[in-house]
Amino acid sequence: MPLTRPETLQALHFIGVELPATTRIPDVGLNRRLRDALNAAQDKDTLPATLDINALKKWAPPSSARQSAPSTPRAAARRGEGEPPQGPLLDAFSRGNAGEAFQNMSGSNGPDLYTDVFADLRQTTMALANIIDAGRSTAHVGSSAEDCGVNVRIVSVVEVNEHTPAIVVLYRDFTIATAAEGLAWVQEHFRGPAPLTKVHATPLEIKLFLKLLDTNAALLPEGHDVAKLRGPHEDAYRLSVVLPVAPLDFTAVAKLNYNPGCHVCGKRDSKYCPCRCLRYCGRECQTADRAAHKQTCKSLDKGVWKAVKVRACPPGNEHMRAFALNRYDRLDPAAQRRILAEVESGPRAGDAPPPPSLYGDAGFIAKLQVALGPAPTEIMVYDKRRSMQVYVVAEDDAELFGLLVDEMKKPGSGYGGVKMYRWARRTGDWELEICIDRQPIGQVMW
Ligand SMILES: [Zn+2]
Ligand SMILES: [Zn+2]
Repeated sequence: MPLTRPETLQALHFIGVELPATTRIPDVGLNRRLRDALNAAQDKDTLPATLDINALKKWAPPSSARQSAPSTPRAAARRGEGEPPQGPLLDAFSRGNAGEAFQNMSGSNGPDLYTDVFADLRQTTMALANIIDAGRSTAHVGSSAEDCGVNVRIVSVVEVNEHTPAIVVLYRDFTIATAAEGLAWVQEHFRGPAPLTKVHATPLEIKLFLKLLDTNAALLPEGHDVAKLRGPHEDAYRLSVVLPVAPLDFTAVAKLNYNPGCHVCGKRDSKYCPCRCLRYCGRECQTADRAAHKQTCKSLDKGVWKAVKVRACPPGNEHMRAFALNRYDRLDPAAQRRILAEVESGPRAGDAPPPPSLYGDAGFIAKLQVALGPAPTEIMVYDKRRSMQVYVVAEDDAELFGLLVDEMKKPGSGYGGVKMYRWARRTGDWELEICIDRQPIGQVMW
């Protein structure tokens, strides 16, 4: 059950990789991106290239394992009422980020329920960990319409490194055509003291889960004797591993998004559209994207772009050891330790490294905001995802600063004279180009 092209784009979108719906990147290129994104979400570059599951030791809960609250509302929801508190393997599989933690605190539902397929996928991997904590070893991940699903039998849990367990599984997917074969297995495991657990999933989530399993199968050494592991009704079952899946941080997202080439096909040899927000390799790609880009392009026609120097912090704050927690920052225990160490030993605000280059050199919408008051001295500039938060400082260029503040005060241009949205491009570590006199079309509010 491979993902269709629109489904692949949708999965990439929720992981944080934005491609236009009209993209002409060939299917193999799209699939490669999804594979890279899933690998990044599993921190694979920190793991060995091959997991010799026979040589790795069995995973054991860390001695410091504490019972803790469920990391996301849906982790709790999927466990159901009245079940025991979160077990150690689920703890090790819970890798949320700050945004989700804040949503939990405010009692909201977290990522969009059953629309964010990446959040759904993470919930499914956590559900497997939870099943193991509960002493069970089989699951059917299936859609509510019962038209597709994956049977999963847990073979073992091994320790890849101090923070990373891996669940070794035998699995097979089923559609309506093959449902009878899947049902025989389900019936086999539905009895007994630790019966099969049903995990509800959307069809798209099931496809992405299969993509994850297929991708991870490459981690296992070649020539592994799978037949030995198979039980009744498991003739066509494949072996793979499930690793903790985390939301990507900005560095990973920036790496996956970086594409200096054509907006449509990714070809490197490309030229800017007259609006200077996107690049195209030629007429064919430009025409293919015309419907999607026309309005933006027109709104930017003859706009005035100015080079704007930006700083990491307002003047006078350079000595501060501030740490702005981003809603995409990871909050699992290992990440928390790393963040604390970074804050304590990290650079002062004045020496902060340049923000990640999430958009390459393509255009993005920036929000510009001044503090309320009679004589502003700096403008805060940030993007919707807050991958960057930088400052335009009056003393760096008083004339340009005045232009920007005036723009905010124009009727229909800014909001209350203190903020406005503008198209911007990154032109250097600490330099942006901002189209100062054109309001982005549509209702931009964040
Ligand atoms: Zn192209
Ligand atoms: Zn354009």
